[in-house]
Amino acid sequence: MSPTALEARLKARIAAEGPISVADYMAEANAHYYATRDPFGVDGDFTTAPEISQMFGELIGIWLADLWQRAGAPAAARYVELGPGRGTLAEDALRAMRGAGLAPPVELIETSPVLRAAQAERLSARWHDDLSSVPESGPLFVVANEFFDALPVRQFHGERELHVAWDGRFRRDGAVETEDSPAALAIVAALARRICAQGGAALIVDYGHERPGTGDTLQAVSNHVYADPFEAPGERDLTAHVDFHALASAARAAGARICGPAPQGAWLNAMGIKLRAASLAKAAPERGAEIAAARTRLTGPDQMGRLFKVMALVAPGWPEPGGF
Ligand code: SAH
Repeated sequence: MSPTALEARLKARIAAEGPISVADYMAEANAHYYATRDPFGVDGDFTTAPEISQMFGELIGIWLADLWQRAGAPAAARYVELGPGRGTLAEDALRAMRGAGLAPPVELIETSPVLRAAQAERLSARWHDDLSSVPESGPLFVVANEFFDALPVRQFHGERELHVAWDGRFRRDGAVETEDSPAALAIVAALARRICAQGGAALIVDYGHERPGTGDTLQAVSNHVYADPFEAPGERDLTAHVDFHALASAARAAGARICGPAPQGAWLNAMGIKLRAASLAKAAPERGAEIAAARTRLTGPDQMGRLFKVMALVAPGWPEPGGF
C-alpha cells in the first residue's frame, strides 16, 4: 500500500467513525511502516544496538546460555525473540550459545513480511504472529530488544483519552498528561505466564523510564532525525518510552521474578563487554578503533548506556541470572 493509501484509509476511517485513539493511530502507522521496509542502519531511519556491534547479541547469548547451564542444561529449551528486526541479534546470540553447548529451536514473533524474509536469510526458525502459537513445551529463553517501544500507547488528558482528528492534517485533540500501553502490558503478562508454566527467562531491552513518567513521549524518527508523529503516518517509526515499572508490575502479578531494570551500560559492563571488545580487537587489530567506538556507543551514559534499560523476567525457582 502506498503512503498516500494509508493516509487515505485513516482519513476515511476518521470520517466514518470520528477521531481515532492515539493508540489506534500508532498501531496502524507502525503496522504499515514495518510491513513495507527494512528501516535499520545508516541508510535507513534508525540504528539499534545489535546493528552497532556483534558484542550486543553475543553477550545476550552468553547471558541465556549461563542461565541455562546453571538450571541444569534442560534439553527442551527454546529460543524465542519478539520483533527480531534483521535477525542480527538472534544470529549473534545463537552463535555464542552454541559455543556454550546450547542449540535450541528458534521461534520468532514477527508481523512484518519484509522483516520475516530478512530473518529467513540468516536463520532457520519458525515464525509466529504472537506468543499464542509458540509451543507450550520446554523452557523459554526469550529476548526482546526495542520491541516494546513500538507498541501502541494510549494518551490521556486527565481522564479523557486523546484522539486523532483530521482537519487538513492529522491533529491530536488535547494536551498529553499521561500515557499507558495496554498492548505492552498484555504481552508482558502473557510472557510471564508462559515462563512460569514452562520455565526459563525473558530479557527485555528498551529505552524508557523506571518510574511512571508524565507527559508525551510519543516520537517519530525518520532518517535518524526526530520528526512530527502526526505527519506522514506509516512513513516514520513511531515509538514511546517503555514504562518499566508498569511492565515489572504486570509480570510480577503473573508470577515472574523481576531483575532490574539496570541501565544498559551497567548491564553490558557486568556481562564483560570490556573483555569481549579486547578479544575482538586482538583478533582484528585493524578494527580496534571501530570496536572501541561501538563499546562506547552501547555503554556511554550520554549515548545508549543510561537511557536504555535491561530487565529480566525469571521463572520461580530458577537460578539468579547474571548482569544485575
Ligand atoms: N529487535 C530488532 C528490531 C527492533 S524494531 C533490533 O533490535 O534491531 C521492532 C521490531 O518489532 C520489528 O522487527 C517489527 O517488525 C516488530 N514488530 C513491531 N510491532 C510488532 C507486533 N505487534 N508484533 C510482532 N512484531 C512487531
